Amino acid sequence: MEPIETHLEKVRRLLGGQEAPLIDGQRHILGQCPGCGRIWLQRGTTQVLHLTAAGIETWARQLHADLARLPRRACRACQIRLVGGEFALDEYVDAPSGAITGYGMSWERGTPPQHLLFSAVLRSWLERQPAVPEPSVVTNAALAETVLRRLVHRPPPLHFQPFEDVIRTLLTRENTPGAHAPGTDNWTWHGGLWIAHSPELGGDVMISLAQALPSHVRFSLDAALTLWRQILSHALSFGIEGA
Ligand SMILES: [Zn+2]
Repeated sequence: MEPIETHLEKVRRLLGGQEAPLIDGQRHILGQCPGCGRIWLQRGTTQVLHLTAAGIETWARQLHADLARLPRRACRACQIRLVGGEFALDEYVDAPSGAITGYGMSWERGTPPQHLLFSAVLRSWLERQPAVPEPSVVTNAALAETVLRRLVHRPPPLHFQPFEDVIRTLLTRENTPGAHAPGTDNWTWHGGLWIAHSPELGGDVMISLAQALPSHVRFSLDAALTLWRQILSHALSFGIEGA
């Protein structure tokens, strides 16, 4: 019988030996872009694109990365060329069992500026977490795609709960609304939460959709959902990298 691969072993295999450690609370991955060949560092939600040869060596040693088999990850410049913005997808995992419990997604573009955050995480698992769970890399691309495609095609939620101010403040602390794109200085986070069923994840998921908009603009859930569907369909048509 084949031994069952743990989640960490899967991450290590997909990343060519790296474990994507959290350093100062941010996940670090050294990758190579299939578009331009550049070797770059993922540091949390930011990309370090201009590494010197010595910098690459240092990070490779620190992250146990084999430079001959780096994971293929599209850099920001190539993502903008291919899909018109930066799309990032993460996976949430229950550490003791290794079960996949949800996904987080972000989308940023500069012109015209767009910035969205979306997550769908098993409610029962989320409620057991003592702190905000840390996402990991996607280890099952087929599952991610099935879950997200199903959630995309669901009708708008009946019970939508707008974010309370404390959530909006937390979001702003973690992510600058508009991601510093020109003209987004007065943007704030809008959005809210709802529950949907995800048979593939095996339960109800808590969905969070956040959209960065000028502070005076009234948030429209329909418009945000439509935009999110377009972005997701477009991004999925290029495939989920890394898995
Ligand atoms: Zn590139």
